[in-house]
Amino acid sequence: MKRKASVVFILLLLFSSFSSGCLSEKIKEVLLEENHGIPGSLSMACLRSDKHTNLEFEIVYEAGYRPETSSINLLKERISDVCDKPSGIQFDYIETTFPSNLESWSADDVREQGWALKDGHPHNTNTLQWQILFPSGTYEDESVLGVAVDASTIAIFKDSVEEAEGFFGRPSAEEVENSVIVHEVGHLLGLVNLVYESPRPHEDPDHPGHSNNDNSVMFWAIESTSLMNFITGNLPNEFDDDDIADLNDLKNENIAITDQLWMP
Ligand SMILES: [Zn+2]
Repeated sequence: MKRKASVVFILLLLFSSFSSGCLSEKIKEVLLEENHGIPGSLSMACLRSDKHTNLEFEIVYEAGYRPETSSINLLKERISDVCDKPSGIQFDYIETTFPSNLESWSADDVREQGWALKDGHPHNTNTLQWQILFPSGTYEDESVLGVAVDASTIAIFKDSVEEAEGFFGRPSAEEVENSVIVHEVGHLLGLVNLVYESPRPHEDPDHPGHSNNDNSVMFWAIESTSLMNFITGNLPNEFDDDDIADLNDLKNENIAITDQLWMP
C-alpha cells in the first residue's frame, strides 16, 4: 500500500506544481488578465500594511468539513509573525453546499466556486480577503491534500487529509490539516520563488515552488497523502529561516517581486 502511494506521488508532482508552484505560461497569462492573479500576487498586500490594515480569511465549508480550531489558531499565529496587520486577522465562516456533481475537483472548479462567493475584489478595500474552501470530495488527483489556485483562493480536501493520517494516528489527520493549511497560505505569500527569486538556495529544483528542507512547512511533500514517506520525525508546521528571510526581504523591498496586483 505504501509502495503504491509513492508511485501515485510521482504523478502528483506534475499536477500539483501546476496548481500551486509553477503555473504554465498560458494559465498564468489568463489569471493575470482576469485580475485574479497567481499564488503570490497578493504577497505585498499581506506583508505590508500601507493599505491593507487587516486580513480576513473567508472559510467556506460544507457541513462536516469545517476546519479544526487548531488549524485556524495555528494559521493566525504563523501569519501574524510575517504579515503586518495592525487591525488584526479575522475569520469569517460560511457554511455552503457545492454542486453535487463536484466530487472530483479541478483547479478551475476551485476558482469558479470560490469567485462565485466572493463579494468584490479581494484587495479593493483596507481589508485583504483570502478565501479557503473546505469541500467534500477530492481533487482530481486524489493524493493532493490542498491547492492554491490564484492570488486569493485555496482549497483543502479533508477527505484526502483523513487518508493521509499515519499508522496509529501519527501524524493525526488534525496535524496533517494544521500543516497543509499553513503550506497553502505560504503559497499565497509567494513561497517558494513563485513571484521572486530567493538569494538563498532553498527551492527544490525537482519540485518547483517548494522548499528542499523537510523541516519547513513549505517542503514539497506536505500537500500529498504520501507525505510521511518523505519526512523523518515530526510533520513541520512552521516556515523555516530561509522562508522567513525571503518574506522579510520582500516586505523591505530588498529583493524584486513580480506579478503583484497591489504594490506599496
Ligand atoms: Zn505546495
